[in-house]
Amino acid sequence: MSVYVLHFDPPFAHARHYIGFTPDPTVARRVSEHMTCGPRGNPLVKAAIGAGCAVTLAHAFEGEVYGRDFERNLKARRTTRAWCACCGVGAKPVPSPSSISARFRAAKAY
Ligand SMILES: [Zn+2]
Repeated sequence: MSVYVLHFDPPFAHARHYIGFTPDPTVARRVSEHMTCGPRGNPLVKAAIGAGCAVTLAHAFEGEVYGRDFERNLKARRTTRAWCACCGVGAKPVPSPSSISARFRAAKAY
């Protein structure tokens, strides 16, 4: 399982990042689907690329501990800009699975 963060430069409308999940052991195949704007690419990422945004893989969280719960937790935090490698803010450490709240660990059945 893997979770990844795509960084948009410049931001696309309201979006500066896209956080995604793949059951694959690495993010390579899934990120490639986004970057090539194929039929399985996310519409937001396609639109950002279409609008001329540079889309960069900012973080790849690869391993069995990085599941849907980790993805949902990252999205809910809304703090990506504070730890994204591309944003360069560095205000917060990159989240780890051990920092996921119990609320998200319990919500696996999606
Ligand atoms: Zn960023």
